[in-house]
Amino acid sequence: MAKNVLIVGAGLGGLTTALRLSKKGYKVEIIEKNCNAGGRLNQLKKDGFTFDTGPSFFSMSYEFTEFAKDCNIELPFRYYELDPLYSVNFSRSPKTYYLYKNIAKLAEQFKDTEPDFEEKMKRYLAKSGQLFHDTVDIVIKSNYDSVFHYLRTLMKVNPVHGMALFRNFWQQVRRYFKSEDAVQIMSLVAFFLGRTPFDTSSVYTLLSYTEFIHDGYYNVEGGMYKIVEGLVEELEKENVTITYNTEIKSYSAEGTRLEYLLDQNNRKWSADIIVINSDAAVFRGQVFRRPEFSVEKLDKKSWTMGPLTIYLGVDSKLSEVNHHNYYLGDNFKDYADKVFKNPDSLQKPYYYVNLLSGQNPDCAPEGAESLFFVCPVPDLRFKSDWSDRDEIVDSIIDDFSRRIGKDIKPLIVSRTVYTPVDWQNQFNLHRGSGLGLAHDMLQIGAFRPKNYDEVFKNVFYVGASTIPGTGLPMVIISSKLAFRRIEEYTAKINP
Ligand SMILES: Cc1cc2nc3c(=O)[nH]c(=O)nc-3n(C[C@H](O)[C@H](O)[C@H](O)COP(=O)(O)OP(=O)(O)OC[C@H]3O[C@@H](n4cnc5c(N)ncnc54)[C@H](O)[C@@H]3O)c2cc1C
Repeated sequence: MAKNVLIVGAGLGGLTTALRLSKKGYKVEIIEKNCNAGGRLNQLKKDGFTFDTGPSFFSMSYEFTEFAKDCNIELPFRYYELDPLYSVNFSRSPKTYYLYKNIAKLAEQFKDTEPDFEEKMKRYLAKSGQLFHDTVDIVIKSNYDSVFHYLRTLMKVNPVHGMALFRNFWQQVRRYFKSEDAVQIMSLVAFFLGRTPFDTSSVYTLLSYTEFIHDGYYNVEGGMYKIVEGLVEELEKENVTITYNTEIKSYSAEGTRLEYLLDQNNRKWSADIIVINSDAAVFRGQVFRRPEFSVEKLDKKSWTMGPLTIYLGVDSKLSEVNHHNYYLGDNFKDYADKVFKNPDSLQKPYYYVNLLSGQNPDCAPEGAESLFFVCPVPDLRFKSDWSDRDEIVDSIIDDFSRRIGKDIKPLIVSRTVYTPVDWQNQFNLHRGSGLGLAHDMLQIGAFRPKNYDEVFKNVFYVGASTIPGTGLPMVIISSKLAFRRIEEYTAKINP
């Protein structure tokens, strides 16, 4: 009976698939390129500070609770809701908007900029909610065996949403709001998908409904890495081993069966079933050497932003900074047009700041704060030279100091920067693209790299670049879809 499983990669996708399988009696082992688990959901401990290095919040919390129920465990970490969800400041004005879930309270802040905001917001969210309920279960939580199967599934979606396919996120928001402030703030969610509102389909306005109404945003007590620590503990109880510092480079196969994988030291790794949590497109190209996933072919696909991330330990309390903060400029359209391709956009960067120690005081020494900045930048196709990184980082720190009215430069006692080069090298991300393949209509559903291999019947994929997509809740769903595939395969070969 095919029961041994090898998982390549200890990211959230690998860890959650491992737990699902081990709970069903499979004997699972994981190998990981880096020296710790978590992948992009990771942590940096330095100079007495703790930083979340990637995700700093999650939405769709019920995907985590459903996962725990599927595995028959208590969720091994505690999370709390964020309200306000985040704050937004434009360089053109000292005003800061707080994105409260209470729509009346939110509307109060737009009384001078967007007349009838409350009414408009309710109508916008009603439409986003309709989109959410009419698509999520049908389209996002399904495996597809062919493009035809996918298109047939799409046809089950209420035809009233047909026009949504022909509009972008920005155009959809514009139908409800008129002022620059309101439209730009409501369109920000598209950046969470790693693209801009101008190249993201209006279908994703359903995310506005998930953030304000359906669920919300959550942070984890003690920092996001508690998710990984909790999962690793659960895996230990199931005798799942994780071997670190092991990177798969090559393979050997016989016909349609993958026999073994080879790591950087030529050690062989084999199992009845192999699950790849490394990026589903990159692995097919780099390890399986499939021509349709060559570097040249991948370069032609559309990828999410390259992140420039900055981790600062500051020797002062910063009571003026909230948990999640967006600092935007005053050239939104021009910025969005250039941000992914033109390094000049970095002269006036837009960025996000997370104050981890605000809610988790243990993450910084007493009287100090740990700050995490994410600035979307062009991926390595469009900016490969990062010798100017300190200059760019200094300009972001100066801008931030100006916005909060306090010069933090002399107070910085710890400073670490990851450019897209680091993101690429640490996690094998194509050209340093932080969230993986973008969610264009021709890169989702049956058009995204599949969660089963085209050639090897015993190989499956899980994670952000296979279905359904990127972000922590999507990766949890991805583990459910991969698990279903594996169960079907096992049933077929052991009738
Ligand atoms: C800066 C940043 C901020 C983000 N913020 C958020 C957020 O706030 N909320 C949210 O929901 N999502 C966020 N995301 C997205 C989220 O981090 C990812 O969608 C998710 O963590 C991806 O998980 P994964 O398991 O698919 O992949 P990964 O985390 O990339 O895991 C894959 C693992 O495979 C390993 N690996 C790769 N190649 C090999 C190989 N050949 N051999 C062995 N091992 C290999 C890697 O080292 C890695 O550990 C953010 C991402 C970034 C970069």
